[in-house]
Amino acid sequence: MAFKTDIEIAREAKKKPIMEIGARLGIPSEHLLPYGHDKAKVSQEFIKGLAGKPDGKLILVTAINPTPAGEGKTTTTVGLGDGLNRIGKKAVICIREASLGPNFGMKGGAAGGGMAQVVPMEEMNLHFTGDFHAITSAHNLLAAMIDNHIYWGNELAIDERRIVWRRVMDMNDRALRDIVVNLGGVANGFPRQTGFDITVASEVMAILCLSNDLEDLQKRLGDIVVAYTREKKPIYCRDLKADGAMTVLLKDAMQPNLVQTLENNPAFVHGGPFANIAHGCNSVIATRTALKLGDYVVTEAGFGADLGAEKFFDIKCRKAGLKPAAAVIVATVRAMKMNGGVAKADLGTENVEAVKKGCPNLGRHIANVKSFGVPVVVAINHFYSDTDAEIAAVKAYVAEQGAEAILCKHWALGSAGIEDLANKVVQLAESGAANFAPLYPDEMPLFQKLQTIAKRIYHADDVIADKSIRDQLKAWEAAGYGHLPICVAKTQYSFTTDPTVRGAPTGHTVPVREVRLSAGAGFIVAICGEIMTMPGLPKVPSAEVIRLNDQGQVEGLF
Ligand code: ADP
Ligand code: MG
Repeated sequence: MAFKTDIEIAREAKKKPIMEIGARLGIPSEHLLPYGHDKAKVSQEFIKGLAGKPDGKLILVTAINPTPAGEGKTTTTVGLGDGLNRIGKKAVICIREASLGPNFGMKGGAAGGGMAQVVPMEEMNLHFTGDFHAITSAHNLLAAMIDNHIYWGNELAIDERRIVWRRVMDMNDRALRDIVVNLGGVANGFPRQTGFDITVASEVMAILCLSNDLEDLQKRLGDIVVAYTREKKPIYCRDLKADGAMTVLLKDAMQPNLVQTLENNPAFVHGGPFANIAHGCNSVIATRTALKLGDYVVTEAGFGADLGAEKFFDIKCRKAGLKPAAAVIVATVRAMKMNGGVAKADLGTENVEAVKKGCPNLGRHIANVKSFGVPVVVAINHFYSDTDAEIAAVKAYVAEQGAEAILCKHWALGSAGIEDLANKVVQLAESGAANFAPLYPDEMPLFQKLQTIAKRIYHADDVIADKSIRDQLKAWEAAGYGHLPICVAKTQYSFTTDPTVRGAPTGHTVPVREVRLSAGAGFIVAICGEIMTMPGLPKVPSAEVIRLNDQGQVEGLF
């Protein structure tokens, strides 16, 4: 069967003027700052004025461990938002912005897919409203000010070997991972080794996404640790007096972007931190604004629930005081089969046994999410090749786990294909069953927090870390950072740190290679395995086929 591509469907969208979409949410036109006809930012003033209003219900969309078969979290987030609107609820979608660089490598877009997309998807996947460029500029301003400070005499006594602030750009460019800067003689400064990360890995991105308002943003930017002295005393962004100018560069980027779905329902697309070395959720300011404007807010967390949902709960919800009312775990028959040992090439053939064998991965995610006190429903994102017997096997398994799995056809049919899920989500959210609590209290020692995540969420026996890492955590506790949550950076493909181990493994250990302090964002990153903060392009990058056609339309992006 031949399907239209995502970009072909998006091109045919009957978009409404963005002012109309905003008006439906009660945003007066003077508080919508249009970027063209189909995108707008919401003014800070309007957002401030919402403070006293009651909140709608927050619904998290998360998933099983991703497989190369693809799960469709964003597609389901968008579909569910449309589905809730279809059954008469005022629902708002909150998703992340796309990183531009990976679109020229091999990643698909970030706007959903099929009949469940937000538009304008080409722009959302390219420059959009310029937020990522602003973040890149703010980040690099700080980098420039560090080298400049040293050049002009280094009054703060920054140890050039201990500068931890790198540079960023929104491009997959492995040539810039490790570089030497300040070459060329006295006029150019003191040579030192550094490198570039991709913009989404910037701490400025994580800060923007966790800040309550511009004041909080500036405070957090000031808190960034950029370097250490020879005596290992931290040097803050504030010491370089960069926080004010960075805030100026970010003032527009802090305003949430409003766009629409193919069905003309409102969607906030704002922020996009990495889901490994950061928390992987859209901005707090967009989610809070959506909660004031809608009765239901559907939002997505990156990766599988072991990383994405855990960080959504333990970092974003904890920090922002959010209380999710229900969670949807996206699963696919194909991914269950892959978890059950079937190769990607054989996914088209019915294999009920493999589906059953793969289901424990889903089962563990259900139990994990429930353990946060959030009621769960499973969305089976229907693919054309799924058979009735395979779907029945997933449903039966989920019923045994004390939850319900609902077949969803939003990718093919839009909101008409996801009404059952929408009704179930409303029922769960209104049941009052939710009693959200983070996994661990703020006061728990840092290493114990890590052990708690490893044991309770990954079902590992323990965490292994060198004495130097444990000492570092103790030093941060002594310096007043002990209350911070942990942000685990590990493979998204497995509960373990080995990407090839699928299913629901037990008895493994979690080795910690390195810990990093994100003092501005407000978490401590525990790096467990290889983590890439500057991706490269594949041998045949999709950039080779991306072009403008005779009508001036973008081809080859998706
Ligand atoms: P995630 O958010 O989990 O990374 P996306 O929602 O972005 O996944 O979807 C990834 C890709 O899979 C998109 O190109 C989308 O069109 C495709 N996709 C999603 N659901 C389906 C489906 N049910 N059938 C076919 N393709 C799908
Ligand atoms: Mg996604």
